[in-house]
Amino acid sequence: MKIDILTLFPEFFNTLYKWSIIGRAYEEGIIHINCINIRDFSKDKHKRVDDYPFGGGAGMVMKPEPIYDAIQSVKGPKSRTVYLSPQGKVFNQDLANNLSKEEHIILLCGHYEGIDNRIIEHYIDEEISIGDYVLTGGEIPAMVIIDAVTRLLPGVLSSEESFIEESHFNGLLEYPQYTRPREFNGYNVPDILLSGHHENIENWRKREALKATFMKRPDLLEKRDLTKEEIEILSQIKDYSE
Ligand code: SAM
Repeated sequence: MKIDILTLFPEFFNTLYKWSIIGRAYEEGIIHINCINIRDFSKDKHKRVDDYPFGGGAGMVMKPEPIYDAIQSVKGPKSRTVYLSPQGKVFNQDLANNLSKEEHIILLCGHYEGIDNRIIEHYIDEEISIGDYVLTGGEIPAMVIIDAVTRLLPGVLSSEESFIEESHFNGLLEYPQYTRPREFNGYNVPDILLSGHHENIENWRKREALKATFMKRPDLLEKRDLTKEEIEILSQIKDYSE
């Protein structure tokens, strides 16, 4: 997958593809990440990329021409152009899965009061938000998307690191995880995890994933098509928690 980031602050991304799982994916050529400085496309002699808003009001707006030229410099027939925006569709695992199927993503990061609306109307495929709050720029949202999407690309995670059982992948939260020591400050790891009985461990994890979702994010269960087995487990959990 190729990702082009259009930004006024390419330095933000300097460490993103040097470390951990994204670093590995970048090294192995599974993702190609390229930062384009929108300012390089300014034809203004002072390299300005913003101007006052028509109609007055606070702050500055990013001008359309440099953004348009920056998009055109990387856009191809298979590009999906995303503007990071607090007005966009809220990013979630489904959207990450969907983006992970693309060959080329262009991530446009706004700044100041945002960008000229003509770019959004005519040259963007979609707006994506990382949550209902306003950040200073689209750089951190772009990193969030790159991280979530990269983990899903074939060959990025090893089978031990697989995302299949992770929270949100199948609409549930993940079951609780423990590691050594068996006893920590008087708190023990659940016996079943030490039993070596794979089927019982599997059933325990299924139950605990449902329980965690019920306790922490019941809204996820409302959206889920529960199986008979899940309904049964949930009624036991509810009885127990009442
Ligand atoms: N004036 C804009 C509004 O009220 O909708 C907010 C502009 S914000 C200060 C500057 C830039 O940060 C935006 O152009 C966008 O790229 C980015 N941004 C801010 N919050 C974001 C969010 N929740 N998700 C994605 N991008 C965000």
